[in-house]
Amino acid sequence: MSHQCKAILIHCMDFRLIEQTRNWMKENGYLGDCDVVSLAGASKELVDGGHQTRELILKQINTACSLHSASEVILLHHSDCGAYKASYNFENVDEETAKQTEDMDRAEEIIKERFKDIKVKKVWAKMLDEHGEKVGFEIL
Ligand SMILES: [Zn+2]
Repeated sequence: MSHQCKAILIHCMDFRLIEQTRNWMKENGYLGDCDVVSLAGASKELVDGGHQTRELILKQINTACSLHSASEVILLHHSDCGAYKASYNFENVDEETAKQTEDMDRAEEIIKERFKDIKVKKVWAKMLDEHGEKVGFEIL
């Protein structure tokens, strides 16, 4: 028996976002129909990590595609991300948003170089309070 799901979600491991991410997945029909990869900074290290890290992330996508027939990658990044703050000194949230958006665009290119027919959905989660109780999700 084969098990199929429609997508693989790559999101940040940050515990503050987990509940709202789960809600977003449920509202958008992904909960229970999506493989999930949790990494600090989501797809950040696909862009600026070393070769082995990049290959590890691409391997997860390959597994989702070959084992579960996933046809879509969702990259979910968020504001106030500790992984980004550890690498950059942003002056404000707009600067952080711009950098992460640029990285998501680059991550999409890297993924599509390897997986020609895959769809990539980029989602920006703006934290509206520091605890993650209110999060605004926006598909880019
Ligand atoms: Zn984060």
